[in-house]
Amino acid sequence: MRDLRVRDLLLGTMNASKSAQLLMKAYNLEQQGKKVMVFKPETDSRDGAFVISRALNDKRPAIVVPKDSDGSIMAENVWIKKPDIILVDELQFFTESQVEKLAEISITFDVDIYAYGLLLSYTGKMFDATKRAIESGFRILTIDMSCDYCQNDATHHLLYVDGKLELDGSGIVVEDEEFKKKNQLYKSVCFSCFQRAIDVAEMEQIESKHKK
Ligand SMILES: [Zn+2]
Repeated sequence: MRDLRVRDLLLGTMNASKSAQLLMKAYNLEQQGKKVMVFKPETDSRDGAFVISRALNDKRPAIVVPKDSDGSIMAENVWIKKPDIILVDELQFFTESQVEKLAEISITFDVDIYAYGLLLSYTGKMFDATKRAIESGFRILTIDMSCDYCQNDATHHLLYVDGKLELDGSGIVVEDEEFKKKNQLYKSVCFSCFQRAIDVAEMEQIESKHKK
């Protein structure tokens, strides 16, 4: 017996219009008469119970999955409303057990899942949820985006806070209130540009230490 279900993980960097792609996918599926259900994590609290695309100037409602939920809320919604397709926004902010639940739902309820998210945080490390999705039978597809600094494909992120490159941190900054007040700028870059920027910032840090 073959696995009939699609579990696609569409990975793109920051500013790669992932939400726009999700909204277009939802639109196209509904044009085909399919019932679509959208989930998003509570951790991504910027837009409330909506997936919003600034690029398309469009939005649609989403079911927000609380961060302390084991994912049962998703199974309950799928059980009651019986969607043909599940779309997931910002997969990297789900918990590992929620991701496991998603994979389980695709089989138990016989439903296709298309999840959109990031592979790597600005620390250069893989998000736990994304890693768990790959381990849970999601197929990786990439949304191409060019490096902000050269012609290579972007794979990594640099985070500038008040113009200064962030060299450490948890990788998840959305929820941190202090952080929100500061001016954050993400750049999507290739690995060479990522490594070079970090090397330069680290050297500057050492130099300024010695000047004191
Ligand atoms: Zn580059």
